[in-house]
Amino acid sequence: MRFLKAALAATLLTATVLSGSAFAQEKGTVGVLMPTKASARWIADGDNMVKQLQERGYKTDLQYAEDDIPTQISQLENMVAAGVQTLVIASIDGTTLTDVLEQAHNKGIKVIAYDRLIRNSPNVDYYTTFDNQQVGVLQAQSIVQGLKLETEAGPFNIELFGGSPDDNNAFFFYNGAMSVLQPYIDQGKLVVVSGETGMEKVGTLRWDPAVAQARMDNLLSSYYGDKTVNAVLSPYDGLSIGIISALSAVGYGQGDKPMPIVSGQDAEVPSVKSIQNGQQYSTIFKDTRELAKVTVNMIDAVGQKKEPEVNDTKTYDNGEKVVPSYLLKPVLVTKDNIAPVLVDSGYYTADQIKP
Ligand code: BGC
Repeated sequence: MRFLKAALAATLLTATVLSGSAFAQEKGTVGVLMPTKASARWIADGDNMVKQLQERGYKTDLQYAEDDIPTQISQLENMVAAGVQTLVIASIDGTTLTDVLEQAHNKGIKVIAYDRLIRNSPNVDYYTTFDNQQVGVLQAQSIVQGLKLETEAGPFNIELFGGSPDDNNAFFFYNGAMSVLQPYIDQGKLVVVSGETGMEKVGTLRWDPAVAQARMDNLLSSYYGDKTVNAVLSPYDGLSIGIISALSAVGYGQGDKPMPIVSGQDAEVPSVKSIQNGQQYSTIFKDTRELAKVTVNMIDAVGQKKEPEVNDTKTYDNGEKVVPSYLLKPVLVTKDNIAPVLVDSGYYTADQIKP
């Protein structure tokens, strides 16, 4: 009997330790939903969220949906049924979560849209992200810089790529970029040889690198027989790698055919290496550790019934309401600042990004 009691006590103790202390039980479980593991940035986001939540005494349930909308919805339904305290959601298609978020709201579960705005729902409490318009501005400014558009006469040929049309961010990136590029297009210094402009023409469903590569192949064979492409606006590193493959396949980056200026986003390792190898020109660093930090701060504030810190209450109208947001600053990375931005900050080791 005594042995049984001791065994029971030991089991209880282990259970408490495993769940991360009694404090954790008070703080409850946070459901973290990420779109896909196909891109390294979302893996970093998930890892950082779990680490920081656990450090502050929360339990976590982290799920990836491999870019499949029904999977993400069923993950959400399960978390709502399990009664999580808060949901942190990086959506796949930001328009598909209206019903399940109503269920969450009815159970008193708070919802934070993470990085991507959730649209068409009044039940999105807060939004944490980067200044998405500024991401596009920086991408386009890097093209202006790479082509030396201020001093060179041009004209230069450019093709435009957009992100996934079901991701609200894609429009902010594209519009931000076009706010910089359109005046040069109007002056004739930049020429979109294919004539394909606007998100309905240049969007890339689900941010799929293979789709971007196939479109670049087509653009090259249809429009560039006797012309040279000088720059490509690409909104995400995965797409940039696909675009660069299409360009390399027809001889760009070799001999007297320089690689066009290609932008990117997320500072993913293959792209950081590609920049050092003189292929991709730029990327945008979004420190996912910081995004996790502001998100966890919000969860803490909400749990303590305090107003979380936000710094934007105007920009992100989701069709039902303007969602109070915290916007972080994106940073442009070219070969000139890889070490100070990505290594000195501890985001990568020098070894990880060695080409
Ligand atoms: C994110 C970007 C990312 C893209 C593709 C966007 O919603 O803001 O950082 O490159 O999705 O994953």
